[in-house]
Amino acid sequence: MRLRQVVLLNLAASNGRRQMHPADTASRVYLDNNATTRTDPAVVAAMLPFFTEHYGNPSSPHGFGSEVAAAVALARRQVRALLGAASEQEIIFSGSGTESDSTAILSALEAQPGRDEVVTTAVEHPAVLALCQHLTKARGTVVHVVPVDERGTLDIDAYRRALGPRTAVASVMWANNETGTIFPVAELAALARAAGALFHTDAVQAAGKVDIDVQAAGIDMLSLSGHKLHAPKGIGALYVRRGVRLTPLLRGGGQERGRRAGTENVPGIVGLGRAAELAAAHLPDTATRLCALRDRLERGVLAAIGDVLVTGDPHARLPNTSNLAFAHADSDGIVTLLDRAGVACSHGSACKSGMPGPSHVLRAMRVPFEAAHGAVRFSLSRETTEADIDRALAVLPGIILRLRARPGAPAARSLQHA
Ligand code: PLP
Repeated sequence: MRLRQVVLLNLAASNGRRQMHPADTASRVYLDNNATTRTDPAVVAAMLPFFTEHYGNPSSPHGFGSEVAAAVALARRQVRALLGAASEQEIIFSGSGTESDSTAILSALEAQPGRDEVVTTAVEHPAVLALCQHLTKARGTVVHVVPVDERGTLDIDAYRRALGPRTAVASVMWANNETGTIFPVAELAALARAAGALFHTDAVQAAGKVDIDVQAAGIDMLSLSGHKLHAPKGIGALYVRRGVRLTPLLRGGGQERGRRAGTENVPGIVGLGRAAELAAAHLPDTATRLCALRDRLERGVLAAIGDVLVTGDPHARLPNTSNLAFAHADSDGIVTLLDRAGVACSHGSACKSGMPGPSHVLRAMRVPFEAAHGAVRFSLSRETTEADIDRALAVLPGIILRLRARPGAPAARSLQHA
């Protein structure tokens, strides 16, 4: 571990990139699991033979191929079980959550003549919103963007009004990546169905963290991503309910029964399957434990620091996510100083870091600017310990105090939602 850290430090230095702080890797605290998770060693162990031992192409008509095809089939069953899907044939492996989102939305538009509109929300991940913006610009697609309130709760009446005879698909995330707010997807899916539209949900942040039963919830299509649930990066899946027509995004060979061309990323698929199995097994215990850890973090912060908003819906939130908006401090400063103190977290969404100003999610929630400007996301995983939380709590008050005391820091005013 120490040796690897030295190599990483040297690499960072030789590339002229941001240097890692000198804290020992093992003693650092990782609270950025919504950005990505550590690949579980059991997942890595399941994958390894598929690089050097079982390296056949699953489409090949010989033993090398069939042993690998069997592993892919097992992974499909494992993902099916996590989602409560009726059949493993409803699971299509993809390269990422982003690819699954694109496939679902583009397919819905293409496969249903006469239905050419999309309904989505103001707080979706860019994997959905940027695609919708592109569709509007490039094809003139009408996209209805449903607002949320200051808790991040969806305006259901506006959603109902946005659905109509031209809606091809309603795409609404299961849980928000920044605040953890959970949407009532079963209710939303039923409304979409009543309007004759398909319902797609981006469950990238929900899968493995909350119970998912696609049949009970009436979901037509669901996206998930391996690296958010302790599988590697670059592997995802799309659930497509039997009977829903799918137009593939990628065409070529007949892989994935013609629904996603390209030779399968077998180690990634095997890893995703094992990770899905582990997530399902850990889910009940982990959810309870993470709620307790998240609440410990929030209680500790609120007791030690004034002018903090806990953003997101307090009644419907992922157990692992805490988005705290510190007034009169800036997220960049907080994240940087926490990193120096050995605690990794994120400002807003990692996919957008580097972009100035509060995230589109916090703006949609009308979080007051002086607080949104200092919003930080802490996201836990089943590997997070009480000691990790206490470490963050030990350094955070000093950091906020220091930032608020900086010359030019905005004067303190009491916080209220706009
Ligand atoms: N959707 C949500 C809600 C996410 O949080 C992310 C990643 O952060 C994605 C989609 C994109 O997934 P991937 O990184 O696998 O493309």
